[in-house]
Amino acid sequence: MQGFANKNADAFVVGAGPAGLAAAISLRRAGLDVVVADAAQPAIDKACGEGLMPDAVAALGDLGVHLGSGYGHLFQGVSFRTEHSAATAHFAQGKGLGVRRTVLHNLLVEHAATLGVPILWNTRVDVMDHGKLNVNGAEWTSRWIIGADGQRSKIRKFAQLEHPQLSQRYGFRQHFAVAPWTDCVEVYWAAEGQAYVTPTGDNEVCVALVMENKNNRMMRLGDMFPSLGARLRGSEANSVERGAMTICRRLPRVTRGSIALIGEAAGSIDAVTGEGMALAFKQALVLGEALTRGDLEIYERKNRQIRRTPFAMSQLMVFLGRHPRLQSRIIQACSQDNALFSRLMDVHLGMRSPLSISPAILTSFGWNMVTA
Ligand SMILES: Cc1cc2nc3c(=O)[nH]c(=O)nc-3n(C[C@H](O)[C@H](O)[C@H](O)COP(=O)(O)OP(=O)(O)OC[C@H]3O[C@@H](n4cnc5c(N)ncnc54)[C@H](O)[C@@H]3O)c2cc1C
Repeated sequence: MQGFANKNADAFVVGAGPAGLAAAISLRRAGLDVVVADAAQPAIDKACGEGLMPDAVAALGDLGVHLGSGYGHLFQGVSFRTEHSAATAHFAQGKGLGVRRTVLHNLLVEHAATLGVPILWNTRVDVMDHGKLNVNGAEWTSRWIIGADGQRSKIRKFAQLEHPQLSQRYGFRQHFAVAPWTDCVEVYWAAEGQAYVTPTGDNEVCVALVMENKNNRMMRLGDMFPSLGARLRGSEANSVERGAMTICRRLPRVTRGSIALIGEAAGSIDAVTGEGMALAFKQALVLGEALTRGDLEIYERKNRQIRRTPFAMSQLMVFLGRHPRLQSRIIQACSQDNALFSRLMDVHLGMRSPLSISPAILTSFGWNMVTA
């Protein structure tokens, strides 16, 4: 690769998680000379619900990464459930895909490699005071620095883009050997938090817990979510339990000078939205457009637009999680009007404007809530 011997690149991407790899793919497709480095080595696993919503699948397609059922298990919608009611929204457009994190990681790595992007594994990166990069001890220069280094981003700190988080919860995930029993991702709501089930294979589901209390882990699943516990009874675990924090943080700015943040480095939304990776892939697309024109303000502006709805939904979900009586009323009201729930899901996925939900529909929903 040109410039490699000189330790010089058009764009250096710090972090090769989904956001960093998507950014590298996008920038390379835009004609930039890109290098990526990650402190870990592939295939990188992480606690995750492993559901790619239709907008994530579509954004990956726009990056040239085409996913099909061969990589995991397709799903057609989302179902919100309590022990007493269930509301189901089928996607108006496209399908979601449940895909193991490691499978997705391998696919993105392969795709980046096909485009000729060098990836330095086991390589920790720091920014030095003068703005050059310290890459495992070697000094690199780069026209653009892309911080894709996750929740605790050092690049964010260096660029003085830090901002306090709005909420934090604990996430856990584990896979179970059982045939998926619906064509939807199921989100179970209880007083302690949510459990969501994503089909990841013909005989496998991924269960993710998102909890306020870190002691509410998989071994308590059946106590917190009896009907889900009953579904999984007798199924063997296909993986070890893995945990991670899920944080909601909105940064006022995600760029400074020649530095741009992407993925969780650029702020994050609560895991239960299932939209974290969709947001990262959409950011990668607009970052490619911005750097083609050499103008990070384009990225700043478009990122603000694409994150607006996911952030609002994230805060709404965390709020509902803390108000069990309200959550069960809302799910009950949605269960009486699945068409409305489907419309709300389209808004959540950025496929419909919030303004398209008419006052008459909201009044009918309000009535359902009052009578629920
Ligand atoms: C419990 C849970 C469930 C979730 N479920 C879903 C879901 O179902 N669907 C969905 O779309 N999203 C989900 N998410 C969110 C999703 O996991 C994140 O949006 C996604 O991981 C963000 O990717 P990222 O590349 O920004 O960060 P990461 O995946 O964290 O990658 C950051 C990378 O940077 C590297 N790195 C860090 N510092 C350095 C350094 N100094 N030098 C070099 N490398 C460095 C790390 O090794 C890491 O590989 C979930 C999250 C949680 C916690």
